[in-house]
Amino acid sequence: MLATLQDVDVAGRTVFVRVDFNVPLDGGRIADETRIRAHLPTIEALSDRRAKIVLASHLGRPKGAPDPALTLEPVAERLKALLGRTVRFIPAVAGPEVDAAVRTLREGEILLLENVRFHPGETKNDPELSAAWAAWTDVYVGDAFGSAHRAHASTVGIAERAPQAVAGLLMEREIRMLTRVLEAPERPFVAIVGGAKIKDKIGVLKNLLAKADAVLVGGGMANTLLFAEGASLGASLVEPEAVDVARALLDEARALGKPLMLPADVVVADRFSADARTDVADARAVPDGWQALDIGPRTRERFREVILGAKTVVWNGPMGVFELPPFAEGTRAIAEAVAASGAMSVVGGGDSVAALNETGLKDRITHVSTGGGATLEFLEGKTLPGVAVLMRRP
Ligand code: ADP
Ligand code: MG
Repeated sequence: MLATLQDVDVAGRTVFVRVDFNVPLDGGRIADETRIRAHLPTIEALSDRRAKIVLASHLGRPKGAPDPALTLEPVAERLKALLGRTVRFIPAVAGPEVDAAVRTLREGEILLLENVRFHPGETKNDPELSAAWAAWTDVYVGDAFGSAHRAHASTVGIAERAPQAVAGLLMEREIRMLTRVLEAPERPFVAIVGGAKIKDKIGVLKNLLAKADAVLVGGGMANTLLFAEGASLGASLVEPEAVDVARALLDEARALGKPLMLPADVVVADRFSADARTDVADARAVPDGWQALDIGPRTRERFREVILGAKTVVWNGPMGVFELPPFAEGTRAIAEAVAASGAMSVVGGGDSVAALNETGLKDRITHVSTGGGATLEFLEGKTLPGVAVLMRRP
């Protein structure tokens, strides 16, 4: 069982909230505030319920030491504007300065700590760092689903030491949605998997093949599966070292009697460029010197039909090189089909969500997961340490 905000009394108590404010930066500017917005409901609920709120997050990958380019100070400013409430920022992760600031917090007030990865103990899950936070924490709230695949001091260590540990609203929704599609999907359940490399996605493919009624594969990874079946791929991205894994997956699909649908046709280009010459080719006969960069029109149509019949859809991985406009059409067609299906739909993965944003169809997806690596690991069927710690504990 997962304990949530509903299970704890937070009034007047000091609450340590692990959020994921790992926003993309463009020079010192916040390029996209989606990740900040995702935590507003949790922060507002805690503030309304008169908790004394201490927010903690990482930003980027500082190597256990302060890096002025990765300070959370601009995030505090943006959070203040989004909440319309005061947010105090303290340029320290732990220690006497933090302890003193926490002591002066009043009910409903919000304090943001500096980037937790400025402290060498964070990624080592250092017990001393966790204990320093736990010394004044009454309730731990885990809301950073996107960081839950890491067993760090702020995602696991302090959760184990705090008197109470619960999931925040974002964490709760992520777990609920992803668990529902994997454990109790309304059928037919169709999984769509794409992206660059089969090596990165083999665990996701295997788990979804076991759970779904059909798996549609596009993107670069489809090349390696086609190659394993003897196709000619021209100059396309193929992972020769993953051919055995690809073959095993195809065998597994056959043994399970599950359709694992590969592209029938592909958009090919004479080079990897937005102004390349393009054509449509049979997916098993890409001409020499040409590369497959998107699924073709016949494939879009076949995939669309399967998707329209689905009651549940899980999608990870673009169908093509969507960053280049001539090769974004396959991904767009799949997004349109998912939106039109009316199925309960979950889309996850850093690039998949970026691609979905470009289609403008995000609002027609039931759940757009905020995690990159965390979502993939969840879809692989792995137990995330930052989730497990909230399950174990009331
Ligand atoms: P996600 O981040 O959603 O998990 P991935 O990182 O696995 O997705 O894959 C996204 C990348 O795959 C994109 O950068 C895209 O350009 C690339 N990609 C998709 N199709 C192809 C292809 N046919 N050839 C080369 N790269 C591809
Ligand atoms: Mg990616």
